[in-house]
Amino acid sequence: MNYNKKTVTDVDVRGKKVLLRCDFNVPQDKKTGAITDDKRIRAALPTIRYLLDQGAAVIACSHLGKPNATYESYVKKQTEKGKKPEELTEEAWRDSLRKLSLAPVAVRLGELLELPVEMAADVVGPDAQAKAAALQPGQVLLLENTRFEKGETKNDPKTAKALADLAGADGVYVSDAFGAVHRAHASTAGVADYLPAVSGFLIQKELELIGGALANPKRPLVAILGGAKVSDKIGVINNLLEIADTVIIGGGMAYTFLKAQGYEIGTSLLEADKVDYAREMLSKAAEKGVMLLLPVDTAVHERFENTDSFLTVDVSMIPAGYMGLDIGPKTVRLFSEAIRTAGTVIWNGPMGVFEFPAFAAGTKAIAQALAESQAVTIIGGGDSAAAVQQLGYAERMTHISTGGGASLEFMEGKVLPGVACLLDR
Ligand code: ADP
Ligand code: MG
Repeated sequence: MNYNKKTVTDVDVRGKKVLLRCDFNVPQDKKTGAITDDKRIRAALPTIRYLLDQGAAVIACSHLGKPNATYESYVKKQTEKGKKPEELTEEAWRDSLRKLSLAPVAVRLGELLELPVEMAADVVGPDAQAKAAALQPGQVLLLENTRFEKGETKNDPKTAKALADLAGADGVYVSDAFGAVHRAHASTAGVADYLPAVSGFLIQKELELIGGALANPKRPLVAILGGAKVSDKIGVINNLLEIADTVIIGGGMAYTFLKAQGYEIGTSLLEADKVDYAREMLSKAAEKGVMLLLPVDTAVHERFENTDSFLTVDVSMIPAGYMGLDIGPKTVRLFSEAIRTAGTVIWNGPMGVFEFPAFAAGTKAIAQALAESQAVTIIGGGDSAAAVQQLGYAERMTHISTGGGASLEFMEGKVLPGVACLLDR
């Protein structure tokens, strides 16, 4: 995939209407609907301000949650969840949609921009059309949740065209929702068939940094992989073994690899059907001359819980009935040494069950090694990003990707539909 894509600074938007796809999929309080974290809205500000400064009118759009676009799909989904037919009224469906309205985002966005943000009552319907038509340079309109349109997730060309039409004949499409680029939806990909399409600053940064690290890394490139399951990361391991100089495997998935090497792993996380795959990856690393590092010691406990007292043992000494919940100090030294001499580090997946304070030490030590290294440091993956933030190292990383699923697919070397559809430079 070509990562060298046109961005907002490569096109003239003066006097034009820009359809801007944002990621306003914000967390909300279940009861009150209040936005509990507005970081995604803040992240969109640089691109929006730039477009307004350039004299564009901005029609922003985003999805929020997983609404059922039709009453039929609502009934089907809720029935699967075990709801009784008499509860599934049309009113209940409409109520479920109201809870996923972007109206609170319009309010917050207006506060942050210190500008009135107009909210459309629909996505491509009469209200959106009228408000988009009346929109003047320097003004912002927010469309309703794109997933209220049933054509959105199906990438229906009619929906894509209707979205494009809001921006008019000389409109421009700007994509800045990195968290959604791995999905081929009408507002993330289809719309680019009808408007010139470029990236906003958020996607541009993801492409430059992750794309750069994958396509043309400062070497040695060290990839650190962890997290829960091998099966979640098969594509990532496979792709990074193609391009990295060193691949480090920690976290829950390391135990399947240790099993493949013949160790007894007690009750540690094991994917029995992935042992052969792990063995294959071990030989692939050997063939390609990639250094593959596995834990040499591990913190173990009898149960999956936090504790004041746990054992640390070499991986050859995991007692029966114990599970590995973190990497040990020898492993930290081994991994840190590889990080110290790296040119680029890509990290995806925590080294242990960092949610339990007792088993956060390994993840913390690796985060610290990254923070102290001179390397370009890139964090991808939802839990890894959360861990780095929670442990207080976020400011010291070169880049923390904003897209969980999208950054994983990026590291797998997959084509991202929401990136592929943008104009090449
Ligand atoms: P990311 O979101 O960064 O891609 P994953 O979702 O793959 O990461 O994995 C994160 C989860 O892995 C965390 O919830 C963490 O508790 C779990 N994990 C890490 N090490 C272990 C382990 N040894 N045993 C079980 N789970 C683990
Ligand atoms: Mg995760």
